[in-house]
Amino acid sequence: MPLTLEQREEIAAERAETRPTRRATVPALEEILYDALPVLDHGFVRVIDYMGDDGAVVQAARVSYGRGTRRVSEDRGLIKYLMRHRHTTPFEMCEIKYHVKLPIFVARQWIRHRTANVNEYSARYSILDKEFYVPAPQHLAAQATSNRQGRGDVVVGPAAQRVLDLLREDAERAYANYAELLNEDEGGARKDPSWPGLARELARMNLSLNFYTQWYWKTDLHNLMHFLSLRADVHAQYEIRAYADAMLDTLRRWVPMIYEAFLEYRMNASTISATGLKVIQRMLAGEQVDQAASGLSAREWRELMAVLGR
Ligand SMILES: Cc1cc2nc3c(=O)[nH]c(=O)nc-3n(C[C@H](O)[C@H](O)[C@H](O)COP(=O)(O)OP(=O)(O)OC[C@H]3O[C@@H](n4cnc5c(N)ncnc54)[C@H](O)[C@@H]3O)c2cc1C
Repeated sequence: MPLTLEQREEIAAERAETRPTRRATVPALEEILYDALPVLDHGFVRVIDYMGDDGAVVQAARVSYGRGTRRVSEDRGLIKYLMRHRHTTPFEMCEIKYHVKLPIFVARQWIRHRTANVNEYSARYSILDKEFYVPAPQHLAAQATSNRQGRGDVVVGPAAQRVLDLLREDAERAYANYAELLNEDEGGARKDPSWPGLARELARMNLSLNFYTQWYWKTDLHNLMHFLSLRADVHAQYEIRAYADAMLDTLRRWVPMIYEAFLEYRMNASTISATGLKVIQRMLAGEQVDQAASGLSAREWRELMAVLGR
């Protein structure tokens, strides 16, 4: 269970309160504001705050004095134009803040996105909970043979059970040793009075990468879409993709027109190289083109054929 009773009560208290404002708000996002959207076995994503809406991007693009929005069809057209032509700065006018609980190995990939503001739970100051990620059986995959950075077939049967046992045993042992190194009971008193216990900043170092951490993560809409285009993509590791998928849904609620344009021109679109484009032109002209005659490497050829659904 990712949330304690106390944490659930804090969220309920936040959700019970409403504040008057002249700023734009979005009912569909307000509906889930503060709610913990479950991800993986103990993780979550919560939208904590946001600034702007579809209209704010239109307003910034037109540098308007008022709301700047016109007919829905005109606004939609403008947003699509901005997205298509990578006129990105109007999207930087909207911001969103998330609270995320995630395994440390996912956090290591996530933190590579430098264009966000982050504040992480301090394991120097506080004691980490005994919560670690163990993949669901359908996500226990073997190493891919065709792609060194990917997964192959799902591991099943006794081998899968052995993997799950090892993951749990290692994490349980690491946490038991962490607790012994801390030498503190719940009230902060020494469990073993014969020694002071190790500092929290040192005791944490034996914990494995599947233990959960938490952070507040704030970014603007442009950089959020950049993050999602990389991390909700099929090439991203499943575990970070699970978070990106939950965040895609918050994007849909928050800025529906931008979400639509994002799917159309970024997420479900493709970039084709100059040589790839020539191959398509030759094919459209009725020429039989194979990889050897295409000027593309075998890998590029496979990627282009996948994009073309061949
Ligand atoms: C499928 C996948 C596999 C990956 N594999 C590896 C790997 O094997 N090893 C590894 O180390 N990383 C790996 N990465 C991480 C990847 O290389 C990027 O570090 C990560 O995706 C962040 O991307 P970004 O720099 O575009 O994002 P952000 O840091 O959010 O930056 C957004 C954009 O801002 C600009 N920007 C930000 N900071 C700077 C800067 N200092 N200088 C210039 N421009 C800047 C760039 O245009 C950048 O695209 C992988 C990522 C993915 C999605």
